[in-house]
Amino acid sequence: MGGWTLAYHCPVCREELVERPGRATCWFCGRDDEAEWTCPAGHHACEDCRTAEPDEGIARVAAATTETDPVAIAERMMSHPSFQPSGPEHHGVPAAALLAALRNAGLHASSPERIGAAVRRTADVPLGACGSRGDCGACVGAGAAVAAVVGADYRTAAERALVLRTTSRALGRLADLGGARCCKQAVYVAIETAVQVLAEARGLRLEIPAIRCPFADRNPDCKKDGCPYHDR
Ligand SMILES: [Zn+2]
Ligand SMILES: [Zn+2]
Repeated sequence: MGGWTLAYHCPVCREELVERPGRATCWFCGRDDEAEWTCPAGHHACEDCRTAEPDEGIARVAAATTETDPVAIAERMMSHPSFQPSGPEHHGVPAAALLAALRNAGLHASSPERIGAAVRRTADVPLGACGSRGDCGACVGAGAAVAAVVGADYRTAAERALVLRTTSRALGRLADLGGARCCKQAVYVAIETAVQVLAEARGLRLEIPAIRCPFADRNPDCKKDGCPYHDR
C-alpha cells in the first residue's frame, strides 16, 4: 500500500508547496502571517483571504495594493483561489483594479467604500451576457471606473457621454478581437480602454506594460495565438 504522498499546491501559481514553517506575507491582503507551507515563488494566502468569496478577495487586494499598474492589480485579483478560468466573478475586477491604481498613483482618491460601490455596478450582468445580449460585465466595469472618476450619472452631459463611450469602445474592441468568450481577455480589454479614455479625456496617465496573460495554460477558453495578450 502507500506509494503516494500528500501534496499541497499554491493557490496562486499551483506550484507544489514545501513545508517550511515561518512568517510569510499574504499575496492578497499584505498581512504578515504564520505559515507552515511555502510556495517556491513566495506566494502565501492568509486564512481570511484563502476562504474569501470573489468580491471579498477583490476588495482585499484593492485595499492593500500599492501598485500603480492596474493590469498587475487585476492579475493579483484573478489569481485568487475563488476565481474560475471564466465567470461573472471577473466583472468586478476592472473597476476595482483601475480605481486602486489611480489612488496609488495619486491621480484620483477612492475610499474602499467607493471602490466597492463601483464593483457593485457590474454585479447584475449575468454570465454569458456577451453572447446573449451584447454586454460584458468587465467592459461595464471600465465604464463604472470612469463614471466614478469623472462623477458621471444620468443627469450629467459630457461625463455621461464619456462613460457611454468608454463602455461602447471596450465592447467594440472585444468584438473586433473575435472568437468565443474569454473573461481574462475581456478584463484586459476593459482596463486598456479605460486607461486610454482617462488619458485622452482627463490627462490621467496610468502606465501599463505590454500585457502577457499568465493564465493561458489553465484556461480552456484561451484563444492562444488568436489573442493579442497571449504570451508567445
Ligand atoms: Zn505560488
Ligand atoms: Zn490575506
